[in-house]
Amino acid sequence: MRYCSRCRRRIVPDTRPAVTAAAAAAGRRGRRPPADPEALIARARAGDARALARLISLVENRSPGLRAVMKAIAPHTGTARVIGLTGSPGVGKSTVTGALAGAYRAAGLRIGVLAVDPTSPFSGGALLGDRVRMQDHATDDGIFIRSMASRGHLGGLSLATPQALRILDAAGFDLVMIETVGVGQAELEIASLADSTLVIVAPGMGDSIQAAKAGILEIADILIVNKSDRAGAQESVRDLRTMLAMGHWAEGQWKPPIVSTVASAGTGIDDLTARIEAHWSWLGSSAELAARRRARAREEVAAIALAVLRERMGGLPGGSRLDELAGRVAAGEIDPYSAADELVSG
Ligand code: GDP
Repeated sequence: MRYCSRCRRRIVPDTRPAVTAAAAAAGRRGRRPPADPEALIARARAGDARALARLISLVENRSPGLRAVMKAIAPHTGTARVIGLTGSPGVGKSTVTGALAGAYRAAGLRIGVLAVDPTSPFSGGALLGDRVRMQDHATDDGIFIRSMASRGHLGGLSLATPQALRILDAAGFDLVMIETVGVGQAELEIASLADSTLVIVAPGMGDSIQAAKAGILEIADILIVNKSDRAGAQESVRDLRTMLAMGHWAEGQWKPPIVSTVASAGTGIDDLTARIEAHWSWLGSSAELAARRRARAREEVAAIALAVLRERMGGLPGGSRLDELAGRVAAGEIDPYSAADELVSG
């Protein structure tokens, strides 16, 4: 056994593959060289939370190492069930997510939670600090919780969320919950990445009406009236029922059930998990599961292609190529269509 002459620490032989020139250069610039993706994913699959966190960071940082990771994990994906939760701030999304996580953990499933905020410019850590209701699960190895925020990247989360999902799936999580922070268009898109989408409303505030206006009833597979211990819960259920009655449901089509919960007390969570199971069975028995997953993959590929295109174009306004072309258009040297063609052709 050998020890370092200076720090006296044991020297462990390095059995990792040889470092490439690019990795060595990255290391010299003070960045960690990219880890062997196969090794990272093997560690993540074996339950190593640090390896998993590192893989998700590659996604968030849009690391060049991500391509190799995605290639390596592709054969391991497609097994995790994905549940999306959305609703206005304060309706109890985080509490419902926590209660569901508890129920699924009790059933022995490994759970991933992605708390996604498409509007926040802050880094993930700040948001996670707020998710106090998830702290019950903080010391449980069978649950991985990560906050993701857009950090001002256009298309950032529509790019990052499905890839983070893909990594959790490959790492062997049985079920992943994506909790979005608001009910804007971006949140709807992210929630609709899921196999089952839960839309949560709370009594008062005309919340169910707002939900209908924002178009979120259309993406709901299950409607939850949380805070059913509050006045007005019955009215919310009635409003939702009336709105659903106005829709047309073809034979064999899924009609969203309405579930009443008091998530803070765990009430109604059994009913909710039963409804989620029923939806899962319906997905499997219809062509819908395959269709949803294909739609998710289509969005994912399109988001990556757009990002590549944007990079090739020299970035968003402020990018040098675009700036240069904009100068020529402003000076009347070329027309904007020709400039756009030049930009896109790379
Ligand atoms: P989010 O912003 O949608 O994630 O909402 P939170 O989960 O953070 O919940 C907002 C507040 O509502 C917290 O103070 C919760 O404790 C409380 N809350 C959550 N569920 C219930 C419920 O069923 N009944 C009542 N009375 N309060 C609840």
